[in-house]
Amino acid sequence: MPDRLVLLGSKGGPALRPGGPWPSSSLLEIGGRAIVVDCGLGVTRGLVDAGVSLKALDLIFITHLHSDHVLELGPLIHTAWAAGLATPVTVFGPPGLGHYWRRFCQAMEFDIEIRIADEGRPDIRELVCIDEFGQGHVVEQRGLKVTALRVDHPPVTDCFALRFEHGGSSVVFSADTAFFPPLADFADGAAILVHEAMLEEGIERLVARTGNGARLREHLLASHSFAEEAGRIARDAGVKRLVLNHLIPADDTEIGEVDWIAAVRKTWAGDLTIARDGLVVELSGAKAASGEGTA
Ligand SMILES: [Zn+2]
Ligand SMILES: [Zn+2]
Repeated sequence: MPDRLVLLGSKGGPALRPGGPWPSSSLLEIGGRAIVVDCGLGVTRGLVDAGVSLKALDLIFITHLHSDHVLELGPLIHTAWAAGLATPVTVFGPPGLGHYWRRFCQAMEFDIEIRIADEGRPDIRELVCIDEFGQGHVVEQRGLKVTALRVDHPPVTDCFALRFEHGGSSVVFSADTAFFPPLADFADGAAILVHEAMLEEGIERLVARTGNGARLREHLLASHSFAEEAGRIARDAGVKRLVLNHLIPADDTEIGEVDWIAAVRKTWAGDLTIARDGLVVELSGAKAASGEGTA
């Protein structure tokens, strides 16, 4: 199995619009492991469509507890379990993740108990191990090393960029963050940097159609990065490929890939991929498999 990154959900924020992309989730296949990074709405569908057997689910990472990154975590594991998952799953995430998981199981108690009794399923509560991490070392096992960096995503303090390394290859996810220069050191020399991005000209239209305009604008500007800023991080880190992801706005018909490219080209001249749902990026040479969505 060649190492690859699949962008399952590429939009920033929790809203869904007709025909539009899904919130944040990604699949990273590296060193023979299938790793899920963030579990926004649509992650289960995305994994199945990417050819992953839900019964093989074993490693999940959550960058922070905003709903567009965690809302479908419980439903993903539950669906895998109902589909026959019988092996342990470890979920790494920020403090508070254990609370989410325990309460999810409580909310689904009727169904969980009845499937154990009626269908002979193993107890889902015993299959899942929740590992809450902070900044620094997260885990090292079977040649896979994962480290975390606290990023700048107010008012959320426990939001972590993640670096996955295996066999000399590394992939870094920025998580949600305002422009945060320490990310450049953290992503130093990575094959792929997946960085969140927003586009200035799209923000006003987004704010106008979403309601509570002033507060939303304030949150976006304080907690997220412009595409040009993502490009600066990629350049300073000397990564091989920059993937712009968690796009804000992601579903504005007035804004196309060409606009994202124009913005990021002000600061980044290297290999570039603009995310869209289902896009595959091969890790070998960090080349995009389809050729589309790249520039
Ligand atoms: Zn988000
Ligand atoms: Zn967030």
